[in-house]
Amino acid sequence: MAGVYIHIPYCRQACHYCNFHFSVSRRNLQDFLNALKAEIAMTADFFDKPLKTVYIGGGTPSLLSGGEINAIFEAICRHFSLDDACEVTIEANPDDLSREKLMILQQTPVNRLSIGIQSFHAKDLSYLNRIHSTDQAIDSLKNAQSAGFENITADLIYGIPTLDDDMWIDNLQRLVNMNISHISAYALTVEEKTALAHFIRRGKYQAVSEEQSARQFEIMMEFLESKGYLHYEISNFSLPGHMSLHNLLYWSAMPYLGLGPSAHSYKDGQRFWNISNTERYISSIGQGILPREGEVLSDTDKYNEYIMTSLRTMWGCDLQKVTANWGQERTQFLLREASKYISRGHVYHIDDRLIVSPAGRFLADGIASGLFIV
Ligand code: SF4
Repeated sequence: MAGVYIHIPYCRQACHYCNFHFSVSRRNLQDFLNALKAEIAMTADFFDKPLKTVYIGGGTPSLLSGGEINAIFEAICRHFSLDDACEVTIEANPDDLSREKLMILQQTPVNRLSIGIQSFHAKDLSYLNRIHSTDQAIDSLKNAQSAGFENITADLIYGIPTLDDDMWIDNLQRLVNMNISHISAYALTVEEKTALAHFIRRGKYQAVSEEQSARQFEIMMEFLESKGYLHYEISNFSLPGHMSLHNLLYWSAMPYLGLGPSAHSYKDGQRFWNISNTERYISSIGQGILPREGEVLSDTDKYNEYIMTSLRTMWGCDLQKVTANWGQERTQFLLREASKYISRGHVYHIDDRLIVSPAGRFLADGIASGLFIV
């Protein structure tokens, strides 16, 4: 499997919690799009197999026009080959998804929409400083389905201080009622240097509670599983047949190419990333230089990454794979270290696999780091 991620670094408004690379000014948008097309040409030899996934994220890629999206795809198709069943996702904010815009998106290769709902409740949308309203969140999903998009994933955030448990269940229930086939849900985290961190420090906003996040994670797990969703990764749920191929690619150490400022790539044990500065990205590409930094992953890095990503998934960590890649001694070490999590009931040891139990899922990242080689 191979895939491409394209980062569109523009948003209409800054959400209070966001620490992604973006700008609310679009003054260099055309220069950026030209640089992006040039970067696509410069990286044409990255893959020796057809792309299974293309993911346009950001930022807010849905603010691009249909012509701009098609121009990006023309460049992609000119320089890479695409599998016939290529999953092509675009991230979209609800306020961009009018009926007209969705008809335009239907004329592009996009076949999967990732819609940033976050919450259906006005209080939460205001706390997060989302630009859209409750009605726009509902309409975007309905309009997308009426326009013929069957493959839709919705993003939600839990642990928002304004979101009580009933409101959280209501958010989940609405997506279930609309038969949304994939849901990604993230705990609200307060990243340094965000407006949210500043407001909480100043006492203007209520702080985020770990206990609330843990409780709402449990509620979600139970609720969505009872509605037939598969909890296939800590933050991801899907109806049968609707897992995200692009996500699977990230979690299985397959090669992916990141295009645009701040985008990350991975291939053959090397990771690299473009600078998180759109002006410098444009100028470097203009001089024919890929604006990248990178690192070669050590054997230990690869092991730690495998532990981290595999334990977040429902398939867990394959002990035969650990033995094949890192030797029998490493497997013995892993089992010794995992024994305390197994005895607490947070990890199951089943058929040569370590799988995080439902009781351990909220703690999965901490469990994984407890099993790292340091
Ligand atoms: S729309 Fe997305 S990328 Fe833009 S500020 Fe909000 S969370 Fe960040």
